[in-house]
Order: sequence, then C-alpha cells, then structure tokens
Amino acid sequence: MSEHYDVIVIGAGPAGYEAAIRCAQLGLNTACIEKDKGKDGEPTLGGTCLNWGCIPSKALLDASHKYVEASQHFAEIGINAPDVSVDVPKMIERKDEVVKGLTGGIKGLFTGNGVTPLYGTGKLLANRQVSFTPHDGAEQILQAEHVILAAGSVPVAIPPAPLDGDRIVDSTGALDFTEVPARLGVIGAGVIGLELGSVWNRLGAEVVVLEALEEFLPMADERIARDAKKILTGQGLDIRLGTRVTGAEVSGDEVVVSYQDKDGDQSLSVDKLIVAVGRRPYTEGLLAPDCGVNLDERGFLYVNDLCQTDAPNVYAVGDVVRGPMLAHKGGEEGVMVAERIAGFKPLVNYDTIPNVIYTHPEIAWVGKTEQQLKADGENYTVGSFPFAASGRALAANDTQGMVKVIADADTDRLLGVHVLGPQASELIAQAVIAMEFDASAEDLGLIMFAHPTLSEAVHEAALGVSGHAIHMINRKKK
Ligand code: FAD
Ligand code: AMP
Repeated sequence: MSEHYDVIVIGAGPAGYEAAIRCAQLGLNTACIEKDKGKDGEPTLGGTCLNWGCIPSKALLDASHKYVEASQHFAEIGINAPDVSVDVPKMIERKDEVVKGLTGGIKGLFTGNGVTPLYGTGKLLANRQVSFTPHDGAEQILQAEHVILAAGSVPVAIPPAPLDGDRIVDSTGALDFTEVPARLGVIGAGVIGLELGSVWNRLGAEVVVLEALEEFLPMADERIARDAKKILTGQGLDIRLGTRVTGAEVSGDEVVVSYQDKDGDQSLSVDKLIVAVGRRPYTEGLLAPDCGVNLDERGFLYVNDLCQTDAPNVYAVGDVVRGPMLAHKGGEEGVMVAERIAGFKPLVNYDTIPNVIYTHPEIAWVGKTEQQLKADGENYTVGSFPFAASGRALAANDTQGMVKVIADADTDRLLGVHVLGPQASELIAQAVIAMEFDASAEDLGLIMFAHPTLSEAVHEAALGVSGHAIHMINRKKK
C-alpha cells in the first residue's frame, strides 16, 4: 500500500465517496478511509445514507405504501385483494438486500475509478498526515497533499429516553423491528420521525408522535405543513405538538413515556419507542489536537463556503459541516471540493437545495417559504394548483395535496416552490432546475409539459402566479 496520496478522504458516506470518486476521475491518487461495518459485520461503504438512512428507510416506505395501496385502496379502483398481509422479516430482508446491492456498488465504483478503500479508522494529524488504524491491524501514518473530512453525523441521544437497543431505539433500530409493534411512540416530528412513524403506522401500529415544538414542520411552507398534518393525522398518526418528553422507562413488555404538555404531566405506554430528535456532527476521535481544524459553536467542523477548514488543504463536507443534513448536499460539496483540488472553480448553490419528506403524499420544496418572505418584507406573488384538479392524479387515485409557486412580484423570478403530493420528490427537481437557471414563473408557464402528468400541476401553479392557469378558476384574473 502506498503511504503517500494526493487525496485522503475520511468517511465513505455520500459526501466522502462522491469526493473520492471525482478525485480519482480527475487523475488524483486517492484513498478513502471508512470504519463502518454493515449488519453482517463486514466492512461497508456508503455511510449513513446507504446503510442506515436514506436507502433502507425508502425501501420500507415504498414497501409499506404498497401494502396500504393493496389493503385499503385497491378496492376503490376495482381490484379485489382480500388476503393481503405483511411479512415483516421478508420486508426487512429485502431492505437489507437493497442496501447490500448498493453498498457493493460503491465498492465497484471505487475499483472502477481507482479509489483505494482503506477499512478502519482515520484521524487527521498535523501537516496533512493521517493516522489509519485498520480493523485488524496496527496504526499506520499516511501522508496526503489534501485531506477531505467527511465523517458524517450520528443520532442525537436525549437523557430522558436512553436507548436500550430493544424497546427504546434510534432511527437505526427502527429499521429492523422484527414485527409490527401494536403501540409505537416516536419522539420528534422531524423528517426521520415522520418517515419511520409512517412506515410502522402503515403496517398496522398505533403511532403517537410527541413533538416539543408547538408548530408542525416549521421549516416547511406553513400552508403545506398545515395540509400535511391534516392528511397524516387522517392516516392515523397521532401527532401531539407542544409535548416535551421528560422520561422513558422500560417496564416489563412496555415502555412508559412521561411527557409534559399544556395540561401538565402526562404518560403514555407503548411497545416500542423511537427517539428521532435530530442528528449531530460526528467528530469523536477524528482530529488530533494540533491538526489545525476548528469546530464552530455548534460542534460542526468549521468551514467557509468552499468547504475549506482552518488547516491549509484540509476540507470538510457533508453532515459534519454546517447546512442541512442531506445526502445530496454533502455529495455536491464533495464533488465541488474534488474539482477545486484539481484546479477547477465550481461552487455549491446553497439556495437551491431541495428538501423532501417521504411521507405519502410526499412533501418537497426548494427556496423560500411564504412565511420567510413575509418576515423579510419581500413583495411576492403566489400561484397554486391542487392535485384534485390534475387528470393524471385523478386517474391514479392519488389526489391529495397541491403545488405552490412563489415568485417575486416585481421581477417574476421564482423564489420558492412547494409541493405536497404524489411524487413530490421527483416533481421538485423541475423547480430546482428552473431556479438554478434563474427562471421566472412565466418561463415555467411557457414550457410545454406532457399530458397527462403530475408535472402539469407545476406548470399550472406557475401559470397561476399571473392568474393564467387554464385548468382551474383563477382568483386573480389577468
Ligand atoms: P455519513 O453518511 O454519515 O457518512 C460518514 C461516514 O464516515 C460513516 O460511514 C462513518 O462510519 C465514517 N466515519 C466517521 N468517522 C470516521 C473515522 N474517524 N474514520 C473512518 N470513518 C469514519 N438524506 C437525504 O438526503 N434524503 C433522505 O431521504 C434521507 N433519509 C434519511 C433517513 C434516515 C433514517 C437517516 C438517519 C438519515 C437520512 N438522510 C437523508 C440523511 C443522510 O443519510 C445524510 O445526510 C448523509 O448520509 C450524510 O452524508 P455524509 O457523507 O456527510 O455522512
Ligand atoms: P429533526 O431535527 O428534523 O430530526 O427533528 C427532531 C425533532 O425532535 C425537533 O422538532 C425537536 O423539537 C424534537 N424534540 C427534541 N427533543 C424533544 C423532546 N424531549 N420531546 C419531544 N420532542 C423533542
């Protein structure tokens, strides 16, 4: 093994593996250190996203959605499927197969592109030296011209609800229940809490979500969040806002959760409890005291807009630095840093990062919310279009939600697009592309969309900004 590399990446999640692959594509001699082991105990690449995050959660979300369709909605469209049932171990096994296929795929991409994977723990020392301790070997000191730190994040633990790995679990444990819990508690109505709560609710659990904040999804557009809460509540998620969990104790076969709400002390008994109160940057053991990299006040590795740390030629990307904890945000940062190391000058546009919550209907947005624009005193115009008026949504029996387009009232430039609806995760890409090209609502309205598609709702909402929507009555007539 060479002891000198052009680039050493620490962490093989989406931020780190994308950085490593791009570096290798650009001709740089690159190694990527990863310490994680998969469920089978073997070294694995792909980080949280592939092993314990995006991919396994979506495998279970898609499977559980199909179950709801078959058991509750097939009859509405003339298909009788009276004997639909759930096989949880099979569902989990398939999820694990999807994970295994994709993590193996990253290994193949490393091989194909010439990235050297190093399985073990990395630590940044001074002067871009890196200590590497293999899983089954002694520490080695490697030298790099450039180091990219991509150590990611881990779930936040809260003292009132200590994990026991069986009844009280974090998001990782909630991906591996062996049966559907009859009663499930979820602490935190954030993205992860809602997605995992939805999975088990769809499969038959009675789910209570306890959320300290008074507001539901404060980062989403208010109107979208309000409609989403109504729909999710209708599906059976008992979302209790303004409830702060103060304790959780395993007692026999159940967990007794204590919490406070406006009426005082309350308690709730559940069979399983998922703690989903957020994630924190993972920096334990990553930095030698004299390596020159500093943390910010919230414990993230401090970086500037170009992901440069305070140490020369040391970069940090992904969940371990400021900004939304999203796989695609980290991946873009990784590629940007790789290209800068190779001498190019790309930037990450932090204003067009899409956000998605994979409930059903899905919630997705890019840009500013209406309440943000109001608070900033911006002059804006809104156009919206309900899926209930979309031919394709009606044909697909999937009509909840809407598209909302917000544009600058003076220039018509797109400021934000918000979707609650089927395939919102796919539809939002259209808005991201439009905003990346600085499009106006009129531009989006002038583009031709295939019929019948869900995408037409984006088109109509954009036309609605100027009161020109065709398939609904415009409130503003122009
Ligand atoms: P990570 O993926 O956390 O990878 C960091 C890697 O670095 C890890 O494998 C870790 O083992 C390794 N590492 C750390 N320290 C060291 C060290 N010292 N030496 C060697 N290796 C080290 N995001 C989305 O965009 N869409 C989603 O749908 C989505 N769903 C999610 C669902 C769940 C349940 C969870 C938990 C997260 C989800 N996320 C989602 C978030 C997403 O997983 C993260 O934003 C993403 O994985 C961050 O990528 P990263 O490369 O920065 O870090
Ligand atoms: P996110 O950071 O999007 O994953 O969301 C985590 C959510 O958990 C936030 O909305 C927090 O308000 C919520 N939360 C954190 N601690 C508690 C607690 N003790 N009780 C209830 N909710 C909590």
